[in-house]
Amino acid sequence: MKENQISPAEWEIMRVVWTTHPITSTEIYNILQEKTNWKLPTTKTLIGRLVKKGMLTTQTKGRKYEYSPAVTEKQSIKETTDALLEQVCSTKVGQTIEVMLENSVLSQDDLASLEQLIEEKKKTAPEVVACNCTPGQCDCRHEGGK
Ligand SMILES: [Zn+2]
Repeated sequence: MKENQISPAEWEIMRVVWTTHPITSTEIYNILQEKTNWKLPTTKTLIGRLVKKGMLTTQTKGRKYEYSPAVTEKQSIKETTDALLEQVCSTKVGQTIEVMLENSVLSQDDLASLEQLIEEKKKTAPEVVACNCTPGQCDCRHEGGK
């Protein structure tokens, strides 16, 4: 996993901090109690990792540490989805997005903006997407291959 990527457990913390900040580790712990069974030290370890990764900033308030997000939720979602799509052959990105669409509950507004995006993409889409894989990692034909 890349250094700037957020693990599923770290996502739980980030979502709390995006919603409320600045916030203390105890407050984060209390909010997540309903969803996770993490102990306070676990929560603090996860927070520490996020600080190290540059995802959270620290301020001191009296003797307490308070945390705020250093990245936006939108930016993190983009990095996570980019990382996912980089893992598959470029010719399978379409299928991957199709699976995501199929498995998602989307509003009329969501679908309208997706439709608009697809119309926009159609204007410049290539006939065929070229494979970018290491030979042996997919069945695609490669330049220089046979
Ligand atoms: Zn490929």
